[in-house]
Amino acid sequence: MSLLVVGSVAFDAIETPFGKTDKIVGGAASYIALCSSYFTKSVNLVAVVGDDFPNEFISHLNNNGVNTDGLQIKAGEKSFFWSGKYHNDMNSRDTLVTELNVLADFDPIIPASYQNCEYLMLGNLTPKIQQTVIERLTNRPKLIVMDTMNFWMEIAMDDLKETLKMVDVLTINDEEARQLSGEYSLVKAAAKIQTMGPKYLIIKKGEHGALLFHGKDMFYAPALPLEEVFDPTGAGDTFAGGFIGYLAKTGDLSFDNMKNAVIYGSAMASFCVERFGTERLVDLSEAELNARIAEFKKLSNFSI
Ligand code: AMP
Repeated sequence: MSLLVVGSVAFDAIETPFGKTDKIVGGAASYIALCSSYFTKSVNLVAVVGDDFPNEFISHLNNNGVNTDGLQIKAGEKSFFWSGKYHNDMNSRDTLVTELNVLADFDPIIPASYQNCEYLMLGNLTPKIQQTVIERLTNRPKLIVMDTMNFWMEIAMDDLKETLKMVDVLTINDEEARQLSGEYSLVKAAAKIQTMGPKYLIIKKGEHGALLFHGKDMFYAPALPLEEVFDPTGAGDTFAGGFIGYLAKTGDLSFDNMKNAVIYGSAMASFCVERFGTERLVDLSEAELNARIAEFKKLSNFSI
């Protein structure tokens, strides 16, 4: 079933204790689109880049079934650029550079062929743009999932609160959940955030897994303990791509199926961190994904 993905498509420069990259392809929507294309061949992208962005990556998306008719390429302008440096624990990082470039005045134009999409994934962007996307859809999708970050809580909290009222699922990390709700307990934070709009909340805890909340229902998915985490950039976006991709594939929005979607998201994120940038996501096989899902089952399966 058709999925619309909106978010940044960008250049990143990443530094981890294991190495350093020059400008490589990144951006929230790059990870989401690539990852969700493993689940559904009806992925439609809305984003903006400059004419410095490599055609090869766009072709790669197309070859994987991602429709890029809604990817605006601005002549003479530069793509969004982000640079970050990870600390030794690989769980925390400092943002070194954020150059908005084409994102500064991004107008998310939705091609007519994208209307009537059933699933919408709003990747990290200004809350105002995320809201504009929802308003421009003639029919409300069956499910709207939104990602955001602390940066918008600091500079655009009022817009963020308005956008939150319009979505079904919010994905954020634990620190952001505390910041948004003012509650230290994640259970209290989840209850409070659910009164702000989203009826489902996913709190990502990096190497400590992810929590799904809906009313009094709660589910915890571990992250797969890996021998080597090479680069966590995009893990959250990859998780979101796997989560919504699986839901779009199965069309089942029950809480039980959302639990499966969280496991698929976690499995895809575990691949993402094994290499720099999107490298590990470009040629995953179905057999590799199935083997990893089996590892997840084994990891938390017990009988009392
Ligand atoms: P994550 O590691 O899941 O937080 O996502 C990292 C990706 O988010 C990188 O590829 C960046 O290009 C992108 N990113 C970082 N800051 C922003 C921002 N302010 N707006 C949109 N995308 C961003």
